[in-house]
Amino acid sequence: MVEIRFGPSGIGGKSEAITNLGLYSKMGLRACEVAFTYGVYFDKVTAEEVGKKAKDLDIKLSIHAPYYVNLNSDEKAKIEATKKRILDCCEIGHYFSCGDSKRKTSIVFHPGYYSEDRKKALENIEKRISELMEIVKEKKWNVILCPELMGKINVFGSIDEIAEVVNRTGCSCCIDFAHVLARYQGEDKFEEILDAFSKLKEWHCHFSGIIYTNKGEKQHRHVEEREWKHLLNFLKKLDKQQIIIICEAPDPVADSEEGLKILEKL
Ligand SMILES: [Zn+2]
Repeated sequence: MVEIRFGPSGIGGKSEAITNLGLYSKMGLRACEVAFTYGVYFDKVTAEEVGKKAKDLDIKLSIHAPYYVNLNSDEKAKIEATKKRILDCCEIGHYFSCGDSKRKTSIVFHPGYYSEDRKKALENIEKRISELMEIVKEKKWNVILCPELMGKINVFGSIDEIAEVVNRTGCSCCIDFAHVLARYQGEDKFEEILDAFSKLKEWHCHFSGIIYTNKGEKQHRHVEEREWKHLLNFLKKLDKQQIIIICEAPDPVADSEEGLKILEKL
């Protein structure tokens, strides 16, 4: 069976991170996404310490980049600021990886907004992700860029768009199954996702319960047992090397632990 790892979104503050990793490990959680959503709050020294602890405990770390990004802005300054925010995450992510090529850190980010011309948005985002990948390569940072499938209908990041970006640039992605439910009004789209991301051997996923309207995502909520079962029954049969499920429910640690227990009984 494919290896499925669970873990919460959130490692806590700088001073709690190491203790929290210990707690997660005791619960059997083997992944954790560090939320730099309101800014990168780790320095290099902290990142190295946290990365080493995570490696000792066999917990895979990923990063969620700041929300305030848009790779499809018409303003040059905003593009540069966006790139810098993502690259700052890449640098910290590199220290998380402890230089181990099997522990490349996934850097999750929201790709951007639509402009009037949707095709142009796709081209712009692709071009800028390629530029970011060049820099990552030059710097020899041990990270993978993961643009996220988005839950709001008026934001760039449908299944097709993210698949296109992955295929053309060679980046990876973040498959947010809650966002998919919101964006496609309750449809799980499992078959489409399987098709779209068949080439990726490792899947980095997000999941939570979700409240949505006809515009898409509104709010995350607790994951019901039947929702875990539905997703896990699909994932456990896949021919993948590894699947990471980062839980973004309001209590992401408790819900991750529940997901793990449900999988063990399936
Ligand atoms: Zn996100």
